Amino acid sequence: MNTAAETLSGRAADAFDRARRQDPGFDTRPCDVQRAITRRRLVRDVTDVFGVPCAAVTVTDDPDREHGGWRWYRVTITDHGTEYRFTSFGGTVDDLRALAPCPECAGEVPRAEVTDLASLGRLLDARTSGHPVPVPLGFGSDVGHQPHCPNSEGT
Ligand SMILES: [Zn+2]
Repeated sequence: MNTAAETLSGRAADAFDRARRQDPGFDTRPCDVQRAITRRRLVRDVTDVFGVPCAAVTVTDDPDREHGGWRWYRVTITDHGTEYRFTSFGGTVDDLRALAPCPECAGEVPRAEVTDLASLGRLLDARTSGHPVPVPLGFGSDVGHQPHCPNSEGT
């Protein structure tokens, strides 16, 4: 018995659905060969570093973050029903930042650098232990903060 995810068309439909949910502009963005190369390389690197299958990784443009006309990349790893969300300015694992609620305003912001399994583990451990995790560069200027958030440098 085959499920949709066991066929190429099923996996493609699943990937398309995830990409649309992640980046509502996915259907309408113009083709960009260099960004497509970066997205594929990022998928491969994420599967390698985090030990997840290719079909579990979705990389699109980040619909919320743009700097000087440069769109960031959004990465989601789906694992046993849990979605781990990240953003990356440069489109590399070395620049991967986990998206999580701001402790002050609860807006979704780049909460920690997560560039390998150990740094992901540190962030997940902090949720239960309360141990502080260093915030990444640009934390205070991120667009995800709510207006008047004390952590925001932009308002
Ligand atoms: Zn905030």
